[in-house]
Parts: sequence; C-alpha cells; structure tokens
Amino acid sequence: TPSPLPINEPVLSYAPGSAERAKLKDALGKLRGEQPDVPHVVGGRELRDGASFDVRAPHDHSLLLARAHEGGHAVTEKAIEAALAAAPAWANTSFEERARVFTRAAELLAGPWRQVINAATMLGQSKTAFQAEIDSACELIDFLRFNVAFASRLAEQPVSSPGILNTLELRPLEGFVLAVTPFNFTAIAGNLPSSCALMGNVVVWKPAENQVLAAYHTMRLLEAAGLPPGVINVVHGNGAPVAETCLRHPSLAGVHFTGSTKVFQSIWRGVGENIANYKTYPRLVGETGGKDFVFAHPSAEIEELAVALVRGAYEYQGQKCSAASRAYIPRSIWPKVRDLMLDHIKQIRMGDVQDFRNFMGAVINERAFSRLAGWRDRLKSDPNAKILADDGWSRENGWFCGPTLVELANPDHPVLAEELFGPLLSVYVYDDAKPEGIDAALDLVDRTSPYGLTGAVFARDRVAVGHAVKRLRQAAGNIYINDKPTGAVVGQQPFGGARASGTNDKAGSAYNLLRWASPRVIKETF
Ligand code: NAP
Repeated sequence: TPSPLPINEPVLSYAPGSAERAKLKDALGKLRGEQPDVPHVVGGRELRDGASFDVRAPHDHSLLLARAHEGGHAVTEKAIEAALAAAPAWANTSFEERARVFTRAAELLAGPWRQVINAATMLGQSKTAFQAEIDSACELIDFLRFNVAFASRLAEQPVSSPGILNTLELRPLEGFVLAVTPFNFTAIAGNLPSSCALMGNVVVWKPAENQVLAAYHTMRLLEAAGLPPGVINVVHGNGAPVAETCLRHPSLAGVHFTGSTKVFQSIWRGVGENIANYKTYPRLVGETGGKDFVFAHPSAEIEELAVALVRGAYEYQGQKCSAASRAYIPRSIWPKVRDLMLDHIKQIRMGDVQDFRNFMGAVINERAFSRLAGWRDRLKSDPNAKILADDGWSRENGWFCGPTLVELANPDHPVLAEELFGPLLSVYVYDDAKPEGIDAALDLVDRTSPYGLTGAVFARDRVAVGHAVKRLRQAAGNIYINDKPTGAVVGQQPFGGARASGTNDKAGSAYNLLRWASPRVIKETF
C-alpha cells in the first residue's frame, strides 16, 4: 500500500533561551566528556580490530572526540561475510517490516536522538547548530521518511489479461552493496546504507574518517530502531583497502557512493578490472564533486544576489558539494554587488561552533586547510587575480579559513574550473554592454568546468530566465532561479548532477531507490 508523502521535518531555531538550545548544550557537554573507542560493527557485534586513530574537533586541536580503528582487509572480509549471512532473512522480511525500522529511526531522530546526532555533527564536522539541524536532523529524517513513501509506490504492476496474471516483484540485488560516504553530510552518511537496506539489500558501510563520531551515533540510532544484525555492517578507517576487498569480491552487487570525483573514478576502475568475476553486474551510483555557479543577468535584484552569494559560498565553510564557488556578474551591477557582499562578509563571525553566534566553523582537517591555503597563495601572486576579502585565516587553534572573495580577469583560470571545497568564491565580471556579452558569459558557465551539479540564475526579467535555463541545460542537475545553489530539500528538489558530478540518480527519490532493486516478472496462466 502506498504510504502518504510525508511533510518535511520542521527546522528548529535554537533561539537563545529555548528548550532545544538547552538540550543541545547538554548533548554537546556529554559528548565532549565521552571520547568513545568507536568500534566497527560486524554482524551486530562491536569489533575493535586494527590500529587506532584519534578523532579531533576541526575547530579545536585540543579537543579529542573519539578513537577509531583502521578496518583494512581483515575486518572488511568479516563484514562481507556477516552481510551475506544476513541476506536471506532480510530479503524475506516484508517491505512493511523493513520500512518500520527506518520509520522508527526517523521518529527517534525527530525526538530523543535529535540533539545527540546534531551535537556529534557540530563537534566532529565543525557545523554550526543551524547547519547541523538542517543536515543531521531534518535532512536525515526526511530521507528516512521519504524513502519509505517513495519505495512503497515503486512496484507498478504490469497489465494482466483474461486467464493471465502478470506480477512484478522488486527483489533485492543478489550479493551485498558497498556504501561509501563523505564527511560533509551526516544525512548522506545515514541515507546511503539505509536506502539500500530498505530495498532489502545487505550493506558494508565505510563512513569518512572525518565523520566517525556522527557515523557511530547514526549506526546506534539504526540499531535502536530495530535494524537486525548484519544488515548494515560498519568498517572504519582508510577507504582504499576496504574498497579493494569489496571490489574483488564476487558477490559485490552495487556501490552507493558520495564523495569526490577522483575516488568514484577509482572505484569504477576497480569494478571494471574485476567485471568478469562478479555474479551480477554491480550497480554503480555515485554523487561526486561540483563547481557550482551563480550567473547574474543585468536585471538581477542586487541585495538578494549579494546575500545568496555570501550564504551559498560561505555557509559550512564552502564544504557543500553545492556551494557557490564561481560567479559570473555583469559589469553594470558588479560595483554595487561587490560592496554589499563586502559589507556582509565583514559581519561574518567565525570560530568554535559551540558559540551559537558564529556563522562559520573550521574546515575539516589539515589537508583541506593546506590545499586551500595553497590556492590563496597562488591567487595572491597572480596578476590576473584580485583578492577582495580574506580575513580570518588561522591554523593555531583549529583549521580556520576566512571567507575569501577573489575577482578574476581571466575566465579560463583554473580556480573557476576546479573544485576547491572551501570558503573561496571566484568572480568573473563579464561585459554586458552589448546583448551578445550575456550569451558569451552563459557559454563560459557551461564550458569552463567539467562538473554539472548545481547552479543559480539571478534575473528579474522572465525572458532572460527562460533563455539562461535553456542554454545551461546540461550545466547543472539542480538549478535555482533567484536563490542560492545550496539547500536542496528532500522530496522537494531531488538532488544530484551529471558530467563529473555523478550518475545523477537523485538521492531520496524513486530514481535512486530503483537502482537497489532487481525486478522479476511472474506470468501465471489459469
Ligand atoms: P572523498 O575524499 O572522496 O571521500 C569520500 C569517501 O571515500 C570517504 O569515506 C573516504 O574515506 C572514501 N575513500 C577515500 N579514498 C578511497 C578509495 N581509494 N577507495 C574507496 N573509498 C575511498 O570525499 P570527502 O572529502 O569525504 O567529501 C567531499 C567530496 O564529496 C567533494 O568532492 C564533494 O563535492 C563530494 N560530495 C558530493 C555530494 C553530491 O551529492 N554530489 C554530496 C556531498 C559531497 P576516508 O575518510 O578514509 O578518506
């Protein structure tokens, strides 16, 4: 029976003096004191094999949050065995029963677990309370609920005729699915293994090393919701050996990946190398990098545009796959847009995310800080680049990269093509004195970067909107008109991109869920 479509989980405000703020502060205090020795979870049992590594808060080098273990080949082998052992019973569990587990997880997360997982996301990934709330609470709750509702509508039955009954059954894939998740969204980490498991599959889940704490609590949440042992098995640590072991296994039935383009390409290559060994063709679903654009038409509303650029580029330190990282602004409005942006940038507070007044925290780790500092140095010494803002960089207490704005004279500069994954927005000011300047700028948007994830078009002129959206047809899987290119809501804007940004299977939608099912058709004659 199709479940009704849910209403999106309302976002809590954490206003000063509110009950939710008090609860979140309690949860933060509790997690700061816990420092768990995080286990792998194999067949429902905790395993602590492998060398241990420390997990620290990105915004505070002195804050040890947890220890975890390098899973490597041996633990991964055990995780695969446990998954395959759990597969027959889980495949024979009715959809309604499987759905109950994930619906229950959503209810627990909307209730008593909300602040635990939000606090883990704040401390482990350096998200502000608002950024954690829209990710680890609302988006994950929405994924869990919408997956159930969409999955309940999938098995459309074929036509039958007198004396013939045709039925279509959605079987799970034969084997196990490897889920590999990125550091930047707890919702994605929770969704990737859960969506496969909802469809009856068993999973080996490799969370990001920079998201151990939130992944640990997310797995505990799923167990508390009644997930049977072995359905989802967690292996922590370096991704390469975990993937290698899974990709060599004849029972690999799929990979559900979100992360960088480079890593997904290496996984695809690994599958290609082993293709003759598999029992079935593995399904490959990957949501990967982005170089997301904002294109402004001369008719754009200036204040709205400036706010969207600042929020789109700097919220969560620019570490969203959808973050605004290149902007194309007409010369006729640029001075006003620039001045307004600089006013807003000056007001940005950055620091420990436990101080609720801060708008930005730190970038995820030293590697990200050094990579971004390298780009900043390169731009500083480039005569074609003018840095307009870059206050706040510091590595002393945490990995802080200040909101950075750069104007480029060269539209083919690599900084306009490559994903930086940090709070650095590049602007190319285009000549709009003649109408053909607008089309030339749209063509730049389309051809400069290999990615195709999100983009925004700002224009009050409706004809200009229609023209831009048509010309940029393949430039983004999610396009926003007069809004920032971040903040897709599950069930409202199914999310994903093509080109180097992924297989565009739209997480949290029927498109995605169908990839985890293998249909069988039964014809019965009477
Ligand atoms: P990443 O470095 O590619 O890591 C993603 C996951 O892959 C992590 O669990 C990582 O483990 C694992 N991994 C690393 N090397 C591997 C290998 N050789 N084989 C198998 N797995 C491996 O990405 P990230 O830094 O966590 O996340 C940022 C990236 O994700 C950005 O490119 C961003 O655009 C993308 N992203 C895309 C979307 C989307 O919807 N399109 C959403 C969110 C993020 P370790 O932790 O051990 O490195």
